[in-house]
Amino acid sequence: MSASEQTHNNQRKRLEDLKEQLNTYAYQYYVLDNPTISDEQYDQLYRELVGLEQLHPEWITTDSPTQRIGDQLSDGFQKVTHAAPMYSMSNAFNSAEVATFIDRVTRQVGQQVSFMCECKIDGLAINLTYEEGRFVRGATRGDGEIGEDITSNLRTIRSLPLKLSEPISTEIRGEAYISKDIFVKLNQEREENGQTPFANPRNAAAGGLRQINPKEAAQRQLNIFLYGAVYNESFHPASQEELFIQLEKVGLRTNPLRKVCYNLEEVEAYIKDIEEKRSTLPYEIDGVVIKVNEVAFQEELGYTIKAPRWAIAYKFQAEVAQTRVLDVDWTV
Ligand code: NAD
Repeated sequence: MSASEQTHNNQRKRLEDLKEQLNTYAYQYYVLDNPTISDEQYDQLYRELVGLEQLHPEWITTDSPTQRIGDQLSDGFQKVTHAAPMYSMSNAFNSAEVATFIDRVTRQVGQQVSFMCECKIDGLAINLTYEEGRFVRGATRGDGEIGEDITSNLRTIRSLPLKLSEPISTEIRGEAYISKDIFVKLNQEREENGQTPFANPRNAAAGGLRQINPKEAAQRQLNIFLYGAVYNESFHPASQEELFIQLEKVGLRTNPLRKVCYNLEEVEAYIKDIEEKRSTLPYEIDGVVIKVNEVAFQEELGYTIKAPRWAIAYKFQAEVAQTRVLDVDWTV
């Protein structure tokens, strides 16, 4: 066998191994709420797979994790079809990748674009359906098209309005999370009761939302930040900035640490500022999300199979304190 045939075979084998490993890790993370490796390790393997698939697009199969928005659905909950898909997001791991994103978007739109920069809350994506202003259903992202009905558990969240101040009918999207202090308290209680502590606040939140008994969910004291919506006749802001104003106006909770930026320098300054504030925030964030602000431009840019072309998630390095937790034991 020639050296190039050998490389070809090795790449093929590595690609198959990566797909299998990543699918297993994703199952443990999304379905069992019990990750066995850190997010950084997962992201590294994922990028390796993306690299191999870019070299050999003919090897891409529909069961590849790169071709899925979310993940498998677990049994036990009613299924809910979302009014519009709930997408994942493309990632950037350094400032060159952020620059490439800004360049690409600006070139494609062909005029001045503004960017809404937001904290990337490390929780669980949720979808809240309001009809005539009333909260009628809440769901997980699930596989992106179909989620799990977790209405009763979401109703335990004090900051989630059961009735909005205006009779809008649409789906509102955001993140459910557990604050750092509640997480510490929950784990202390678990240790006192001889239970295994949660790996991190995100897992505690994900598990909380999947409780069969809403009383158990209530004990996790979840909270929410909303940052998205399905636009229709009753709800159609012209920009992400206006979306936040409208969400707040109807009574929905948003994260105040956001900023409209007009160029790469401003985006970089925002990232630096948030990274500095990160350890002092009362909730976990794992990065910054940069979104094209103008809805008309968002629509022009559209979506890939997995993610909007008008947004990118810049992921932070793991925090030192967090790394220590990650190193402890991922199998508990
Ligand atoms: P993602 O975490 O890369 O980013 C998209 C998500 O960010 C959205 O779905 C939304 O829930 C969230 N988000 C938070 N704040 C937001 C904001 N202001 N605006 C918009 N969205 C916001 O994508 P993902 O598909 O949810 O998850 C993939 C990630 O999960 C991987 O990168 C990896 O880190 C982690 N993962 C880890 C394991 C593991 O075993 N450790 C397994 C699978 C996935």
